[in-house]
Amino acid sequence: MYDSIVVGCGFAGAVTARELAERRGRKVLVIDARDHIGGNCYDCKDEHGILIHQYGPHIFHTNSKRVYDYLSRFTEWYDYQHEVVGQIYGREIPIPFNLNSLEMVYGEEAGQLEKKLIACFGEGARVPILELMNHEDGDLKKIASYVYENIFLKYTMKQWGKSPKEIDPAVSGRVPVLLSRDNRYFQDAYQGIPLHGYTALFERLLDFDGVDLRLGCQAKDVLRVEADGETKICFEGQPFSGQVIFTGALDEFFDCRFGRLPYRSLDFRFENYDRPFYQSHGVVNYTVSEEYTRITEFKYLSGQTDLDSTTIVREYPFAYSGKPDEIPYYAINNEQNDELFGQYKELADRIPNFYLLGRLAEYKYYNIDAIVERALDLAERI
Ligand code: UDP
Repeated sequence: MYDSIVVGCGFAGAVTARELAERRGRKVLVIDARDHIGGNCYDCKDEHGILIHQYGPHIFHTNSKRVYDYLSRFTEWYDYQHEVVGQIYGREIPIPFNLNSLEMVYGEEAGQLEKKLIACFGEGARVPILELMNHEDGDLKKIASYVYENIFLKYTMKQWGKSPKEIDPAVSGRVPVLLSRDNRYFQDAYQGIPLHGYTALFERLLDFDGVDLRLGCQAKDVLRVEADGETKICFEGQPFSGQVIFTGALDEFFDCRFGRLPYRSLDFRFENYDRPFYQSHGVVNYTVSEEYTRITEFKYLSGQTDLDSTTIVREYPFAYSGKPDEIPYYAINNEQNDELFGQYKELADRIPNFYLLGRLAEYKYYNIDAIVERALDLAERI
């Protein structure tokens, strides 16, 4: 009945499904364990009419015209240019730490420090904090220590349970020291929030004749891997020879037989305040205090600035343990975990026409745009 089965209805699954149906004429079934589409990008209005991101703030940004044009088929955009400040001992400074932040921290001395930074790295450079810390020059060391101590250390300890030096350098490298006065969090050519929300975007993405959707459906209830001699996959008890695109947690699909892959999870605590605004920016990072990492105020992201009340969410990170009410959000990439993932991948590779895609299935820290690009590529390859 179906040519392809897609497990998971986030960007990875939904884009692949649409492409296989529309461009390849396949009959595609998308299943998702949750009762809604959109994966972790799912948004909805809360009881106060504010469009909230149920699984934390998702801000689309990309340098890929291909990805931007593709998604623009399914949504218009609210031109939101994301800015973040760090709450540091009662003061707010721009993050990524940039030349404006430098001036706020160092006052008159900043001019000379700025010259030195630019002479060393060039104007507009994006310098990972761990790289800045390697420099011998006293002034550069001083700036690096300030940024490390006040922006990265505590936030990263909360987010990952480890210091920036103990985790994959690519993670802190996502938020470099920026040698410019651009206060935006991202410098990508295209950025914004879907004008009517992510869920509305997904509704249009999935609204195609060849795409069927089954929500509240666990992969393991309909798919089974059989390995008697040759490995094969069964769909509802019958051998299935079409493609299966899997975007869920791979360890759990294989019953964690080699042990659990470690992930970080988040506890989101929403609150509504009966006042127009709660804070100065869409996101405020708590980089030296508090148990939560950041507070997001959704009005800034949705542009609903005329509403009387405001909804915020605080994020409390913790280690994912696999309990049914927990959600794995971030892979924890290091040598040991990547090797464990490799064992699961080997099992997956033995199944013909079984494709892994996305943050969970590939055990990688992807942004939305990277996922969309990979989904387009995969559908083309298939
Ligand atoms: N980070 C930090 N302080 C900040 C912002 C980021 O230490 O104020 C570090 C932290 O380790 C975080 C990583 O940089 O996990 C990546 O940040 P990003 O904002 O990209 O995280 P995401 O929004 O994907 O959770």
